[in-house]
Amino acid sequence: MAEEKSLLSDAQSRMVDIFDRIDVDDDVRHQLQQPRRIHQAAIPVRMDDGSLRVFPGWRAQYDQCRGPSKGGIRFHPDVDADEVATLSFWMMLKCAVVNLPFGGAKGGVQVDPKSLSLLELERLSRGYIRAFYDVIGPNLDIPAPDVNTNETIMGWMADEYFEITRQKVPDIITGKPLTMGGSAGRTAATGRGALYVLGAWAKRQSKRPENMTIAVQGFGNAGYHFARLAQEAGYRVVAISDSKGAIHASGGLDPEPIWRHKNQTRELKGMVYCESSVCTETDVDQISQDDLLALDVDVLVLAALESAITTGNVDRVRAGAILEIANGPVTADADKSLTSQGITVLPDVLVNAGGVIVSYLEWIQNRTGDYWPESYINQRLAEQLVGQAELCFDRAEEENIDYRVAAYLQSVERIAEAIASSGTQR
Ligand code: GLU
Repeated sequence: MAEEKSLLSDAQSRMVDIFDRIDVDDDVRHQLQQPRRIHQAAIPVRMDDGSLRVFPGWRAQYDQCRGPSKGGIRFHPDVDADEVATLSFWMMLKCAVVNLPFGGAKGGVQVDPKSLSLLELERLSRGYIRAFYDVIGPNLDIPAPDVNTNETIMGWMADEYFEITRQKVPDIITGKPLTMGGSAGRTAATGRGALYVLGAWAKRQSKRPENMTIAVQGFGNAGYHFARLAQEAGYRVVAISDSKGAIHASGGLDPEPIWRHKNQTRELKGMVYCESSVCTETDVDQISQDDLLALDVDVLVLAALESAITTGNVDRVRAGAILEIANGPVTADADKSLTSQGITVLPDVLVNAGGVIVSYLEWIQNRTGDYWPESYINQRLAEQLVGQAELCFDRAEEENIDYRVAAYLQSVERIAEAIASSGTQR
C-alpha cells in the first residue's frame, strides 16, 4: 500500500516522472537517490528533578552541490531518521527552486517539547549543538527553526556554538533573535511568502482576495502569520485548526486575538472571537480537524505536518485549491487524486520558501555586517519568491503540467547543472 511506504520513498517516487521529462544523466539520478550524510546522536539532558533523559537526534545533509546545506531543526515526538532525511530532500529542492545558493539539510530531535520546562528545553537545545557542532558551520550546513523551535531556541543554539568554537559567527544559524544578528521579518517570512505566492497565482486566475474564502490547517508560526496577513489582504479566513481542535465561522475569523488566546490557553477550544471583535460563542462553531479539511472553501491551507492529505481522506477535499505551507502535507498518491479532481495544488517547495529566503538574507547580513530594515527585506523576499514562482507558473501553462512538476523541473535542472559542473572524477 502506497501509504505504508517510508516517507522518503514516497517523496522520491515523484522524481521518477521528473527524471523522465528531462534529460539528466545517471550521475544525477544516483547522487539524488539518498542523502549524502545522516548524522545521528543520543542527546543527554539533565531534567529539573535531577534525572537524566536521553533523546535521539539527527542532522541529515541531503546534498551540498549548490552550496552549504540549509534547513531547520524540528522538535517533535514523531521525528525519526526517515522524516529528517525526507525533509532534507525537500529543503534541497526548495533552495534550488527559488535559486538560493544552498543545498538541503534538516535536523530533528524526537521529543515532546511541550513536556519540558524552559530550562530543560534550553539544555536540550544546547545538547543538540554539542552533538552536531562539528558537522555544521557557516560554510557547511546552517540550521534554522522548524516545527516547535523558534528564535529563542536559535539564540541558545548560536550561543552554545560560540562557546564551543570560541568564534562569534552569527552566520552559523538563522532565525536568531534580532539582538544576536537575526533578521527583521524572519519570523513572519514563511507565512508572508506563502501569501505572496497565493497572491501571484490568484492574480493570474483573475481572482480577487475579497471574494476568496480560506481554511487554515495548522496554527503554529507559519499558519498564524499567513492567516493574519491573508485577513489583512482582504481574504476571508473562515476556519482554523491546531493539534487540539478546529473552529469555523462563515463570517470570518480574526487570527490575531485567536493567536493571543491560543498562547494563553494553548488551545483554540473556547475561542469566541471573530471579525475583529469579541463575538458571542454562537458565531463560532467548534468543528473537528477532519471536517476542516472537507470545507467548501476557495483555498485550503495546509500548515501543519506532512501527510495531512492521504488516499484515506483525499476524496473529502472540496476546496478549489490547496496551498501547501507545511512540508509534504499531501502524499504522492493523494496528489494524483487531487489533480484528477481538478484541484490546483500550489506546492510546498515554492509556497513555504519565504522562510529560507529570509534566512538567506539573514546569513548575508551576518556575513557583511550590514543590517537592513524590514521593508527592504520584504521587498527582496517578494522579488525572489514571486519572480521564481512566476517562472514555474509560466512553465506549467506552457507545458500543460501541474505546478509541482513545474517546480521540481526548475529545481532539478539547476541541481543537475551544479552536479555536472562539479566534475566527473569524484
Ligand atoms: N524550516 C524552514 C523550512 O522548512 C526554514 C529553513 C531555513 O530557514 O533554513 O523551510
